[in-house]
Amino acid sequence: TRVDNPYAGAKVYVNPEWSANAAAEPGGSRVSNQPTGIWLDRIAAINGAGGRMGLRAHLDAALAQKGSGEEVVQLVVYDLPGRDCSALASNGELGPTEIDKYKTQFIDPIAAILSDSKYAGLRIVTTVEIDSLPNLVTNAGGTPTATPACDVMKANGNYIKGVGYALKKLGAVPNVYNYIDAGHHGWLGWDDNFAPSAQIMFQAANAEGATVDDVHGFITNTANYSALKENNFTINDQVAGKSVRESKWVDWNRYTDELSYAQAFRNQLVTTGFRSNIGMLIDTSRNGWGGSARPAGPGATTSVDTYVNGGRYDRRIHVGNWCNQAGAGLGERPKAAPAAGIDAYVWMKPPGESDGASSVIPNDEGKGFDRMCDPTYTGNARNGNSMSGALGNAPLAGRWFSAQFQQLMQNAYPAL
Ligand code: BGC
Repeated sequence: TRVDNPYAGAKVYVNPEWSANAAAEPGGSRVSNQPTGIWLDRIAAINGAGGRMGLRAHLDAALAQKGSGEEVVQLVVYDLPGRDCSALASNGELGPTEIDKYKTQFIDPIAAILSDSKYAGLRIVTTVEIDSLPNLVTNAGGTPTATPACDVMKANGNYIKGVGYALKKLGAVPNVYNYIDAGHHGWLGWDDNFAPSAQIMFQAANAEGATVDDVHGFITNTANYSALKENNFTINDQVAGKSVRESKWVDWNRYTDELSYAQAFRNQLVTTGFRSNIGMLIDTSRNGWGGSARPAGPGATTSVDTYVNGGRYDRRIHVGNWCNQAGAGLGERPKAAPAAGIDAYVWMKPPGESDGASSVIPNDEGKGFDRMCDPTYTGNARNGNSMSGALGNAPLAGRWFSAQFQQLMQNAYPAL
């Protein structure tokens, strides 16, 4: 039987491969013992792609780390047909219609391994399909931000079916804890997206035989950069006769940070039909925004924009920027039960692994070149036609990006 919060009283698996990359960096040993997510990002990753550890190797290593205590293993299940339809950097290997292949060659083998009795003593956290369902809400169906690929995935239903199938199959394993991706505040925090997103998640949680009992919780901010807590302004502040919501940065969003968003979205999910004991995870791997540029206090009250821009920790050019953000730092260290409704702060995105190449790099992983990863790109409708804010010289998504890792350590908050 599952516990309410799998992270409570448990250690979390340290991926030896990520740990070695981190430890090989000058200063990296300060964080190389932190737990990070294991990304099952292609069929070949199940058995170990490119000489890397496969799923069984990770689970065996987790058993060794476990000792006599409790141990959480964090998996990211990430290979939907037509994956990442609004971005090119993490497009996957499966075409939009390959739902059967997804089921039989990806989810079924993972479920078979996880149900091996040898692993029954591990608490296996599965975060299900990052960047899929939120895309159906904001980037499909005749909106100015729609992409043709997301229109296809909305029309063919394969994101919904795939997520439903994954939840049901993985949820049938008694020691698996499914968490569905819930975007981040700078994606779903607007009234137009908030309740409709919870609806789509509910629909997916009832597709392909899944039920809400297959859902333990949700994860926000995965691989994103949204600040955990903006202390220098609140959504209710008024400056020079205007609400903070009218500032260019907030732009009518209801939330200014991840913690307030995650807690409010949890309530929305319960209202929509999910169980009242669901818990949230927040990916704090790269949302620290510390270092010398971190504002020490609120901005000037000249205008709502000087106030917000002078005070905000999140120093992205636009909240829709997502690729290898310049100036970012490591966020809160992974921690169980840090706040009401939150099961844990986690480092699901392994810091130091690229979000996408900054120029075209041929590869056999299905990964494309997304100009949001190009520092010279001037943007599109999804980032308010702003500069991308990406670091240059970035390798393919998932590859080690030493310069980024150094900057993340330098700008860590809390500082290292
Ligand atoms: C990439 C994956 C990688 C993951 C973690 C994603 O952006 O597409 O291949 O495993 O990041 O770094």
